[in-house]
Amino acid sequence: MSRVYNFSAGPAVLPEEVLKEAAEEMLDYKGSGMSVMEMSHRSKVYDTIIKEAEQDLRDLMNIPDNYKVLFLQGGASQQFAMIPMNLMKQKKAGYIVTGQWAKKAYQEAAIYGEAVKLASSEDKTFSYIPDCSDLDIPEDVDYVYICENNTIYGTKFKELPNTKGHTLVSDVSSCFLSEPVDVTKYGVIFGGVQKNIGPAGVVIVIIREDLITEDTLPGTPTMLKYKIHADNESLYNTPPAYGIYICGKVFKWLKKMGGLSVMKERNEEKAKILYDFLDQSKLFQGTVVPKDRSLMNVPFITGSDELDAKFIKEATAAGFVNLKGHRSVGGMRASIYNAMPKEGVEKLVEFMKKFEEENA
Ligand SMILES: *Cc1c(COP(=O)(O)O)cnc(C)c1O
Repeated sequence: MSRVYNFSAGPAVLPEEVLKEAAEEMLDYKGSGMSVMEMSHRSKVYDTIIKEAEQDLRDLMNIPDNYKVLFLQGGASQQFAMIPMNLMKQKKAGYIVTGQWAKKAYQEAAIYGEAVKLASSEDKTFSYIPDCSDLDIPEDVDYVYICENNTIYGTKFKELPNTKGHTLVSDVSSCFLSEPVDVTKYGVIFGGVQKNIGPAGVVIVIIREDLITEDTLPGTPTMLKYKIHADNESLYNTPPAYGIYICGKVFKWLKKMGGLSVMKERNEEKAKILYDFLDQSKLFQGTVVPKDRSLMNVPFITGSDELDAKFIKEATAAGFVNLKGHRSVGGMRASIYNAMPKEGVEKLVEFMKKFEEENA
């Protein structure tokens, strides 16, 4: 068996320990005589799995009791519709457009009501986070929406926007559990787990209880109502049961590692290795305004499409895979999520140094 260094933006690298444990439990989960894939989501065994997963997530993020944790399906993209359907009581919401995922959410919201673009960084290919300290926010917006870490462009909100008292909704798909957060500052935090937590198929929604109401937009399907999932503790229908089980294992791994403040330190350390190299390199350069750089997704270029392609090809052959930038922006991108070991980043930088020398 040989594992590569996987810099994929998602689905992405998972902790080896978790994968090994899952492999050991594949045929017989804790004496049940079956795999978690094969068991009823209403069984006692599974009930313990989903309850423990929720509790471990609550412990890690310090989630207050007046927030619900929902394990849903449909990916982060389904939340782009579910959020307005459930939250747009006055049919108006503010969107800060810092990348393609925020833009998609903004466009989706416009189907259901008035989506107001409060700020955007599209003028410079989303390479920075706009100043959101004093935005012009209409009084009657139901919420202010951000994509906290922009997976494609590699920017991150280092400070949350001043929402002037309005509910903050945040897509944290690509920075979920990468550092501590103050949950009380948000109305809704959501993310697809396939970037930094688990296998594709699960989306986690952390939502303040007062935002969960019967009062959804007319025609909202039952499956897209937060209330139905909250009232049924994520078991209204069959949940993505196996995926939730793996997420639960990752939560336990994170706890064992020391929790989110330790992850933050590790992530800062890893990102610094790569950014420090980029900052002094004569061949490679980062594409993002330094103060807004993501700890998770690091885009970079050589300035030549040919050299980019050569680099990706040689890197792949050397065991550094999925370094190609998003199809919409080109260049390279190294996603260095929680489960990417520091060694992986160090070795990548060594490889980049060698490539730089050979192609000077
Ligand atoms: C990947 C990603 C999405 C889309 O997730 P799906 O689960 O594929 O719908 C949305 N937002 C962000 C920030 C992402 O990184």
